[in-house]
Amino acid sequence: MWASIVRRPFSRVRQKCKIKVLGINQWASFEEGTTCSLSTLVSSDIFPFQAPPRADLQNKVRAISAFCSKYGIDYYHFLQEPGIPRLFGDLEKYPADALGTVKRPHGGDMDGLDRTLCISSPIVQEHYRNMTRKFVREYPDVKGIWFYNLDGRGWLCTPELCERCKKICADSPANKYNPWETQALLISLLAETAHEVRADFDFRSFAAVHHKGGAVEKLLRSSSGYNSLTGNWNGSDHDIMVPDVAEPAPEFVVAQKVCAERLIPMVAYFSFNNLEQVSRSLPFPFHVCDALNKFKGWGITCINEVVGPIPEHNSINALVMREFQSNPDQSPEVFLPALAGRQFGEKAGVEGNSWIVSQHYTRCRRSVKVHQLGSE
Ligand SMILES: [Zn+2]
Repeated sequence: MWASIVRRPFSRVRQKCKIKVLGINQWASFEEGTTCSLSTLVSSDIFPFQAPPRADLQNKVRAISAFCSKYGIDYYHFLQEPGIPRLFGDLEKYPADALGTVKRPHGGDMDGLDRTLCISSPIVQEHYRNMTRKFVREYPDVKGIWFYNLDGRGWLCTPELCERCKKICADSPANKYNPWETQALLISLLAETAHEVRADFDFRSFAAVHHKGGAVEKLLRSSSGYNSLTGNWNGSDHDIMVPDVAEPAPEFVVAQKVCAERLIPMVAYFSFNNLEQVSRSLPFPFHVCDALNKFKGWGITCINEVVGPIPEHNSINALVMREFQSNPDQSPEVFLPALAGRQFGEKAGVEGNSWIVSQHYTRCRRSVKVHQLGSE
């Protein structure tokens, strides 16, 4: 199965139809920062002083997930937790034993510190059980969660700054923002609670990104309840072109291994068309063909497209991606001239020449170990 996920706001039926035509059968929404927290979409009976959910965002998520369902596309909601509590209520109103402190790698106060909800606290755990049950129940067209945190609005306590978490995080460094023990606790709590309400709810978690080396395997083996994992071949955030000398990172390989053992999908995410720091799609398709071919060789069967494709943004890349997802072994040199003929008619020769130049450009980029467009 080649399952593609994209994460662009899309509000028009026409665009959804195009997405479906391209063979994409899943969608992960990254609509707006605040929708990444459950508190924006459901109320908490445990912390009733929090601001009420936003009706506009509730309606938006319900409408998009319903449209997706109508067109046979599974809708995943992008989730970041534990949400920074000051964004949802007066910090003074939270019980003292609900709060912890994180030393963030970016953001926070002058010292990089921020208050967060302590996932080791029983009252916070009940808060998340309460909201997760409501979310799964009240958004029936949402297929699942796409869980990513330790960035943006979702932070765990730094162990040395929280007595409760310090007791749990016996293996992780005490002074880092990314202990795997409390991350495993959070993933298990959210996933298992979701399944209490809906057994087929799909909880998809990031395998690595903010965890490296042996911590990744400990995290994945200690967490329970997740239905699939997602990760990039280089164990990092994202990438748009795979160097020819590349080998999958150990973090990616171990995630594949754990997924194989648990008989669940490992979904490789990759930016075939756009990076967050590039304003337009790359205007040539060779990196798409090459990446899909390499991914097949690495045993990757599910793809998670990050940021694009936008069909009207770069129709060539979108069409090439569709064709090479179903057949990664075919030759770009054979396929692309035929595509150019269909797309450009008499001008196909001119376009073909420009593609030859861009093919050379792509090969040059791939020949270096770390290309300029990479995320690291
Ligand atoms: Zn804590």
